[in-house]
Amino acid sequence: MKSPSEVLQQYFGYNHFRLEQANAIENVIANKDTFVLMPTGGGKSLCYQVPALVLEGTAIVISPLIALMKDQVDALRVNGISAAYINSSMSAFEQNETLNQLKQGKLKLLYVAPEKLSADNGAFLKLLDEVNISLFAVDEAHCVSHWGHDFRPDYLFLNSIKKQFPKIAIIALTASADEITRQDIIKQLNLQEPLVLISSFNRANIKYFVQPKLSVFHHIVQYLNEHPNNSGIIYCLSRKGTEEMANKLKEKGINSAFYHAGISAMERSKVQEDFLKDKIQVMVATIAFGMGIDKSNVRFVIHSDLPKSIESYYQETGRAGRDGLPSEAILFYSYADVIKLRRFAMIEGNEEQSDLMLQKLQQMSDFAEVQKCRRQYLMEYFGELHHGNCNSCDYCLSEFENWDATTDAQKLLSAVFRLKERYGKNLIIDFLRGSKSLKITDYMRTLPTYGIGINNDKYYWQNLIKQLLISGFLRESNDEFPVLKLTEESNHILFKNKKISFKKVKEQAKAVTVAEIETNYATNEISEHLHLFAELKKLRREQAEKENVPPYVIFSDATLMEMATYLPSTKEELNQISGFGAFKIEKYGEIFLPSILEYCNINNLSSKIVEKIPKKQRESKKISEAGTFTTTFQLYKAGNTIEDIAKMRKLSINTIQNHLINFVAVGTIKASELMDITKIEPIIKIATMQTILSLKAIKEELGNAFSYFEINIALAHHKLQQ
Ligand code: ADP
Ligand code: MG
Ligand code: ZN
Repeated sequence: MKSPSEVLQQYFGYNHFRLEQANAIENVIANKDTFVLMPTGGGKSLCYQVPALVLEGTAIVISPLIALMKDQVDALRVNGISAAYINSSMSAFEQNETLNQLKQGKLKLLYVAPEKLSADNGAFLKLLDEVNISLFAVDEAHCVSHWGHDFRPDYLFLNSIKKQFPKIAIIALTASADEITRQDIIKQLNLQEPLVLISSFNRANIKYFVQPKLSVFHHIVQYLNEHPNNSGIIYCLSRKGTEEMANKLKEKGINSAFYHAGISAMERSKVQEDFLKDKIQVMVATIAFGMGIDKSNVRFVIHSDLPKSIESYYQETGRAGRDGLPSEAILFYSYADVIKLRRFAMIEGNEEQSDLMLQKLQQMSDFAEVQKCRRQYLMEYFGELHHGNCNSCDYCLSEFENWDATTDAQKLLSAVFRLKERYGKNLIIDFLRGSKSLKITDYMRTLPTYGIGINNDKYYWQNLIKQLLISGFLRESNDEFPVLKLTEESNHILFKNKKISFKKVKEQAKAVTVAEIETNYATNEISEHLHLFAELKKLRREQAEKENVPPYVIFSDATLMEMATYLPSTKEELNQISGFGAFKIEKYGEIFLPSILEYCNINNLSSKIVEKIPKKQRESKKISEAGTFTTTFQLYKAGNTIEDIAKMRKLSINTIQNHLINFVAVGTIKASELMDITKIEPIIKIATMQTILSLKAIKEELGNAFSYFEINIALAHHKLQQ
């Protein structure tokens, strides 16, 4: 029997288990029921895929969405694992083919749609009697519960699995956080004393930004222009909104499409497929889009309208960054959206439901308005402790200054008082600013507070109202059009001269640019390798097209990024890249390696894979590297040219040149042996003028008459002299 870590490395090319994966896997292998709660992108699939490969027999995986099943099966096959799926959209012939494979024990995993299990009184389950089954996995297990957000009647039938196969372990997996759903799943599936594993819901690689909903289109275009190669989703509230946005984006030359429940099923699946295959960069969609999208390289999720609850917001933003790379969630917030959504939230004749929805909406708007770490707010909402200061949300990244609001708060509260607590924000602001609007009656104009707030703009007053509401110096009625009311606390400001100050944003953090993100990812000068990254993406797309699968099924962006960072030059080195298992190295090594080598040759670079190897192993690698340096040195001393040595040693010219540069640096080889020494002076002159040494800049200044090799030698020589 292989160990779980061997399987992880060999088939999936990963070195470490994440979150609770290892515990879940161990428990399933011990044939015990398991319940896994992990956020989207956490890596639930491996919790049953690894045991399926460790154990004898076939794992039966129940998964609700046909598109998802296909994706998962494609991804497994790309890793050399025999897997198949069966659902009612397939012809009887196709289904039979799959069943035959199953009976012959040829499949390690079989994905089954729930309706297939319940069809014909459970005929399929009976048929499984003849099969050697390793485990049952119920993915998206919240579908079994009425409490979950996506109940599916077919899931209820899953109840009979335990009855019919009491000796086989069931693993249930979901990202649905709440307690009632959790209990219900365990009950509905008849899990026997399950091990319950709950992972943190913090998605550390997602940055959260909330921006005022002003010039939204302009900001989105600007963002997309700064992120031209990134794939993402823009959520809009209405169908019409998605169409308008997508069309306007297209006019700006942005590769986008819209998606909502009102377009034909055929059109929907086409745009969805194009998005998965990176043929459409930006999907503008209603919330109808996303269930069953496992695209791992979604780099951003923008909400141009407010979601109706934190659960929706968290789920939708969670579609970003499944591959673990830095991603962004941007919410455009305005209070007008809250008012609009309030109307939707109120359900005639169902007060209880309406109250719940209004409460959820309130929490959503609090998230956008409260001055505190966004991540902390989210985590606390889901019942997890978080210390704040995440350093990756707009709040934590913004600069603040103190702002004495006493006088302006007095003006504002007096206005509310004078107008007898009968009006909403907008009128109060108009009144303060001395607006000529017809809503301001002649009587109002005679009041002393009319126009005393003219020196500040509308947004200033909106912000002040927000702060006063949050801190309880003001409240809002629960009406459809809420009006501002004074509170006990208001009196302290109005009549007792209480001083108040708030924090004011000095510099608002905005979603950062690609270059920054990609540099942050690795400590190396990865930005220099963006070219290679783009090239690798292209290769991946071509390969995906050949195999007719989405590109991210072949490799995640994270894998490509590692290749572009560490520049592996051999199959052995590819083994160190996360996402390259043995099978993929054989299958794709020869497709990707030549591009990396070529890139290294052009730029005079060589493999940096040693930087990736864990320290322990690095030491021994250093020793063998010392050996390889000596070999080059001996061949060089014996009179061979660099080209000859490269050929003899089956290494790239770069590598050999790099070896020799090292000997120049320690004085064993003289610079004059390798280059025309009159070239050294101009190189050093430019280099010493630079504050930060950049080979690229030196090269650009000097032009083609100088090679990177010569620049490197000159620098090594110069350093030695000093
Ligand atoms: P979930 O179903 O929980 O939303 P997935 O199972 O689809 O998440 O996994 C999300 C991504 O994370 C996939 O691209 C997967 O290959 C990757 N992944 C999962 N586990 C690991 C791991 N241990 N190391 C590296 N990547 C992983
Ligand atoms: Mg999943
Ligand atoms: Zn934060």
